[in-house]
Amino acid sequence: MAPLPPPLLLLVPALLAASAGRAPPRSIAVVGAGLGGSAVAYFSQQQFGPQVQLDVYEQAGVGGRLATVTVNKQQYESRGASIHALSLHMQDFVKTLGLKHRREVPGKSAIFSGEHFVLEETDWYLLNLFRLWWHYGISFLRLQMWVEEVMEKFMRIYKYQAHGYAFSSLEELLRSLGGDAFVNMTQRSVAESLLEVGVTQRFVDDVIAAVLRSSYGQSVLVPAFAGAMSLAGAQGSTWAVEGGNKLVCSGLLKLTKANVIPARVTGISLHSSEGRALYQVHYEGSEGQGSAFYDMVVVTTPLHPSRSNFIFENFEPPIASFPSAFQPSVTSVVHGYLNSSYFGFPDPKLFPFASILTTDTPDLFFNAMDNICPVNISAAFRRKQPQEAAVWRVLSQQPLDKQQLKTLFRSYYSVQVMEWQSYPRYDSTKSLPPIMLHDNLFYLSGVEWVASSMEMIAVAAKNVALLAYNRWYQDLEKIDQKDLMHKVKTEL
Ligand SMILES: Cc1cc2nc3c(=O)[nH]c(=O)nc-3n(C[C@H](O)[C@H](O)[C@H](O)COP(=O)(O)OP(=O)(O)OC[C@H]3O[C@@H](n4cnc5c(N)ncnc54)[C@H](O)[C@@H]3O)c2cc1C
Repeated sequence: MAPLPPPLLLLVPALLAASAGRAPPRSIAVVGAGLGGSAVAYFSQQQFGPQVQLDVYEQAGVGGRLATVTVNKQQYESRGASIHALSLHMQDFVKTLGLKHRREVPGKSAIFSGEHFVLEETDWYLLNLFRLWWHYGISFLRLQMWVEEVMEKFMRIYKYQAHGYAFSSLEELLRSLGGDAFVNMTQRSVAESLLEVGVTQRFVDDVIAAVLRSSYGQSVLVPAFAGAMSLAGAQGSTWAVEGGNKLVCSGLLKLTKANVIPARVTGISLHSSEGRALYQVHYEGSEGQGSAFYDMVVVTTPLHPSRSNFIFENFEPPIASFPSAFQPSVTSVVHGYLNSSYFGFPDPKLFPFASILTTDTPDLFFNAMDNICPVNISAAFRRKQPQEAAVWRVLSQQPLDKQQLKTLFRSYYSVQVMEWQSYPRYDSTKSLPPIMLHDNLFYLSGVEWVASSMEMIAVAAKNVALLAYNRWYQDLEKIDQKDLMHKVKTEL
């Protein structure tokens, strides 16, 4: 038999289900139109078919934490910026939507202690290796092996998902990938795990701390799993979407022809009709308040008062917000002239770095800064010379005051400051949130407590779509199965 063309291939789950008897859900509501909401709309349509009504509620802009900021008529990524090479769902979205990878513009990195650079990248690969070895022995090799082992096991998820398997809890998902060791990696710190495999304390203090400060704005006490994902991003090559990562969200929503409803969801209440659960979504938009009934609902925004303040009604036991905290972080996008003297380079022409990470030094007022490129890069584009005015993204815990800006920049044309609750504060809780809030009510954002990145959200979106589908059609053999590596090897 000739292979089915891709659009028909996407309908296979829906065709199989129709032949099994039960009608698909009539309508699905998705709360939030960030990457999670857009991806879950797309994957749900793949599973249930195009006849299901998909309503996506969004209180602000499509894209959520994927957004751009305009400086001097050019757009720059202000939040989720870089994607790891092995992010297979993100790769797939880009391909399906006909988007392109942005051209990479090379730039060197260094780690700054507040007084001097503790590690500097050069143009020579061998010299970089030699420097790492000279300062830290074989710690960097041990780190690489540790990260590779985690990533290799993590990549199993794509195989499981391709075979239609889903997980009803984050613990089950992690266990299927890497056994209890993966679940434990959400409970112990990355520092502890790395010291155990022989990485030195000095390497942890200088390098691991710098990567975690720049990615999560947190210390080496971040749990090992989240740490490994972040370190994988720092080690491997990364990419971004030409035109902005947020194009993935708008593209997926357009492709699924989802109804994007510009409104804030204020609550979800449980009702029943003909013996099955129905969910009423209450919302308020510019035209006032309203509500609508759905067979299924997916919540794709953290259930935390600081992020999305809505209530659940009539559920027994009650659904509460997940006890947790978020890490406040500030991004300042500065168009100006770097004060290279502060970094020990009185002559700005000689400043060689495009990216500056920092060690966990008391009084150091920023976590990282990068000389960033616009989201559209023409063939003629070149990175600004260090003595020229450039656009820098500075990450910090607190807004930078005038004196701090003057420390980092000789002068500047503009500063745009964005403050947000960006990531979970990983030391604030040890238990993982649920995926299932009720029979057909799912929670996607809990995965951020395992690790917070675009690809983790995409993996969680596919899992929720598969879980919803398997539960709807009572295909329980496809949920929480043990020994999946063996099963997928023996399945056709
Ligand atoms: C500063 C920063 C840098 C980052 N860098 C990277 C990176 O380099 N690489 C990477 O992979 N990831 C990065 N991330 C993480 C990545 O951006 C997120 O994991 C991802 O975008 C989260 O998508 P989401 O859809 O789950 O959540 P969100 O994008 O937060 O989407 C949730 C949506 O729900 C909406 N919403 C909330 N409450 C309601 C309500 N009551 N009613 C209706 N709508 C509601 C919100 O407006 C929002 O649009 C970064 C994040 C930040 C903040």
